[in-house]
Amino acid sequence: MDRSRFAPTTSGPAHPGTLVAALLCWLDARSRGASIGLRLEDIDPTRCTSLRAHELRDALAWFGLDWDDESRQSDHLPAHERALDRLAAQHELYPCDCSRSEVKRVGLRAADGGYRYPGSCRAQPLPAAGWRSCDSALRFRLEPGWIAPPDESGLDLAQDPAAAMGDPVLRRRDGAVAYQLAVVVDDAEQAVTRIVRGRDLAPSTAIQVMLQRSLGLATPAYRHHLLLLEEQGGKFAKLHGAVGWRELREHYSPERLCGFLARVVGLTESTDETSPRELVADFDWARISRDDALIRWRDGELSCLGYRPAETEPGVS
Ligand code: GLU
Repeated sequence: MDRSRFAPTTSGPAHPGTLVAALLCWLDARSRGASIGLRLEDIDPTRCTSLRAHELRDALAWFGLDWDDESRQSDHLPAHERALDRLAAQHELYPCDCSRSEVKRVGLRAADGGYRYPGSCRAQPLPAAGWRSCDSALRFRLEPGWIAPPDESGLDLAQDPAAAMGDPVLRRRDGAVAYQLAVVVDDAEQAVTRIVRGRDLAPSTAIQVMLQRSLGLATPAYRHHLLLLEEQGGKFAKLHGAVGWRELREHYSPERLCGFLARVVGLTESTDETSPRELVADFDWARISRDDALIRWRDGELSCLGYRPAETEPGVS
């Protein structure tokens, strides 16, 4: 049986984009009889609080989504540390003291829209006392080479991560384990076989597959889906700031919101009230829009302004 998961970072309130991602992941699992867990990704101490984690959980339950199990990423630290032990033993970890602004100053762009680390500290060895004794950030030494994980939606995930993204930080200077490592380790520990997530994460997939290979872990199936976008200063960005769940629920019932979102992603032909459970029987990825949806929140009302083709291509740097 397939095993899936929805893994939101608990750094802010649920917004319509969070709910669409959760809905698509949940419908994919429920419609194929797979099990699905909720994993609250709460390991960034600078952004995640337990209040936010609770609120996110409540928002998903309010929307009508249930889970076969729930976990918190912060409970998995021993497994993350074991993975760092293994990578250190394989000489794939190195300390790096470059600041974010130094990396930015070099000016190399990464495929995910950020700045690519130029590899300045690549030759630095770990201290003889091991990675735990190190105050610097720890990076993963990526071997150059193309990697082409399949994507069920047909998205081209082929990338040479060393060239397109640069060596990722796996443990930050403040001691926090970074997303790229935690996600790979947790998916394996939780025996996840299917990953359904937003297209903003597509450029990270090749790095994650490289990490799986270094750690001797299986690669799950991937499917990346459309994003909800909002206009910000004349540009379109992933919908975030426009409206959070607290405000949203003052204006929308879960059924009305589900009706709107189901229509936006292409699942239904009208915005009639519905619920995740009612959508399971007819769920079909072929009906889901490939293009991102432009959403506006104004005067307590969500509207869809249109669609636009995705911009990011995992291999583009
Ligand atoms: N925690 C990540 C996020 O909320 C998603 C993890 C994943 O699905 O790979 O963006």
